[in-house]
Amino acid sequence: MPFCPSCEAEYIENTIECSDCEVELVSALSIKELENDFEWVPLRGVPGKTYAEMVTEVLDKEEIPNYIKSDALSTAYLTTGTSTITGNSIIYVPEKNKEKAEEILLLILDHI
Ligand SMILES: [Zn+2]
Repeated sequence: MPFCPSCEAEYIENTIECSDCEVELVSALSIKELENDFEWVPLRGVPGKTYAEMVTEVLDKEEIPNYIKSDALSTAYLTTGTSTITGNSIIYVPEKNKEKAEEILLLILDHI
């Protein structure tokens, strides 16, 4: 199924151009497989989303793909205490970028 690389709308077979963006459609399969061609590994937990976002900001600059997963379970546990505790956030990066990402994470956590 072809889809628009700009707005990600899917089109029926044999459509050539996105009617909204006027860009050439690409094959969904080839792109999506490329994007998912990572083995995602978790880094050390970060104490709170604010710190996690500091880390991912640097990862973005280094062009390391990443996403944050919040530890919902510990959030639920800890919210009975002070409201400042938001639980752990776990940052996921592609396996091949793990070493570099871990260095960045440690550098930032060192400054907390
Ligand atoms: Zn489009």
